[in-house]
Amino acid sequence: MPAPPAVPTRAPGEDTIPTDPYLRIGQQPSDRGADTKTLLTWAQDLRAEQHQVLGFPGALDFSYSELGPLLDVFANNVGDPSSGDASAVHAKAFEQAIVGFFAETAGAAPDDVYGYLTTGGSEGILYGLATARRHLPHARVYASDQAHYSVHKAAGLLGLEVTTIASREDGTMDPDDLRMHTFVHRRINPRLGRGPGAIVLATIGTTMHGAYDDVTALRRIASTAGAVYVHADAALGGLVAAHAPSRPAWNFEHGADSVSMSGHKIIGSPVPCGVVLVRRELVPEAAGAEYVKATDRTLGCSRSGLAALLMWSALRRLGHDGMRERIRAGLEMADYATRQLASAGASPSRPADSLVVCFDRPDPWIVDRWHLACEGDRAHIVTVAHVGREQIDGLCADLSSGRRP
Ligand SMILES: *Cc1c(COP(=O)(O)O)cnc(C)c1O
Repeated sequence: MPAPPAVPTRAPGEDTIPTDPYLRIGQQPSDRGADTKTLLTWAQDLRAEQHQVLGFPGALDFSYSELGPLLDVFANNVGDPSSGDASAVHAKAFEQAIVGFFAETAGAAPDDVYGYLTTGGSEGILYGLATARRHLPHARVYASDQAHYSVHKAAGLLGLEVTTIASREDGTMDPDDLRMHTFVHRRINPRLGRGPGAIVLATIGTTMHGAYDDVTALRRIASTAGAVYVHADAALGGLVAAHAPSRPAWNFEHGADSVSMSGHKIIGSPVPCGVVLVRRELVPEAAGAEYVKATDRTLGCSRSGLAALLMWSALRRLGHDGMRERIRAGLEMADYATRQLASAGASPSRPADSLVVCFDRPDPWIVDRWHLACEGDRAHIVTVAHVGREQIDGLCADLSSGRRP
């Protein structure tokens, strides 16, 4: 992909949140009633603004308030979802049901994969790459220039080297560039078998464009370097790919060894969460700890039972059929947005079956008003469930008015 022309932007970290002296926690207990009012006013203000958030992938159409009493219990999912533990105050049965649902979504029989509820897509990437490193300790990671920045953070923690592969115009990893790089890094060393191997980080729904890397093709191409491990970072696009008419090759059936997805994006949740799934034979034997009396192959120790309860509730309301309908509606809204943005002269672009629609970056007031995500001279919206025609029409009206001299 050609480098975008330089446009003055706010640099990461340039926007800082000032410390609010009113919120300072001092020596004396504060007035609980006043604090409750502060919190509820904050929530009300945020809710009022949320229908204008078009540029980020978290669906905001949810309500879990009837489950308020869950806030009065402690549920701590220590260790593996299938493992008992000493405290026995957990919600692991619910977590197992969630993992089963996501396994089916990702083309695996629930018994064939190990998985657990993470804090989000990024923990899943770290888990996938850690598993890959255990099997291919000499391999480097191949990720496209469109891969999420969490990939670099995870690789850095694990001491894995990342080779950045160019992307094509539509945002997918360039197979020819992957072929060239895996060929260069093959090493004919009898001690290392056919070569060091390759860890391919495929992105299923790239952050800027929503493009789907082809797991089957990338796996085949990378085998020049020896054994291949593929992690599918499906944080944004896994649930979409699972129901997309063009049937992207993204999951276990297509050759992935591990898959990570976010729970708070397409589905929507008041607490960030996600799921990581790994082919069962790639996960080490369960090791236990005396104190917690649980087997634990997760990255955390204590994990949120509340996130599992809320996610279970959301998934039960949908089922696979409801999810398919949710995705169909989102794709239809992306079609609508593409047409309207074209009429507004904003040059939209969108890969097949993507919820992400890119267009020419508008004036800063429009970026701020509609909470758009920008990169270079392009901006994007993501048509998750709270984004309807009304907001798209509002955005397009602003784009047209902003153009007037
Ligand atoms: C959002 C996203 C992530 C990070 O997921 P979190 O749940 O925010 O940690 C990683 N990869 C891609 C492609 C994403 O869109």
